[in-house]
Amino acid sequence: MKPKKICSHAGCNTLIDFDQKFCSKHNDVSKWRMSYEGKYRQFYKSKRWIRESKQFLITNCVCVKCLDEGIIKKADVVDHIVPLKVDWSKRFDHNNWQALCHRHHGEKTGAEQRARTNSPTSFRGATLQTPRGR
Ligand SMILES: [Zn+2]
Ligand SMILES: [Zn+2]
Repeated sequence: MKPKKICSHAGCNTLIDFDQKFCSKHNDVSKWRMSYEGKYRQFYKSKRWIRESKQFLITNCVCVKCLDEGIIKKADVVDHIVPLKVDWSKRFDHNNWQALCHRHHGEKTGAEQRARTNSPTSFRGATLQTPRGR
């Protein structure tokens, strides 16, 4: 008889063969997630995105969020107003693009990630605060 172990997916107690990592159900999930994430990686590496986003930053060279605050700052990245994960079809829609500086882009993606995952690792910053009363 072959040795068995439980599925590596958190909370799943399905018994599987020892040489497997996930049960058939969770194996599909991890594969799906890989291809799903891969789609975005491929997009950001695509020649069309690199070429068009560079072009976009030439005509939209100022961060729109800084401009809202009355600051003129050079834009560093092209951001999707409606994120790709929400509407993939708008990835090359220039009306859905905005020029952002690194700070504002980081703030936007950070907020989106916090809203999405809500995991304790998102709050790592909180532990870095200096202790009070020193
Ligand atoms: Zn499982
Ligand atoms: Zn900015």
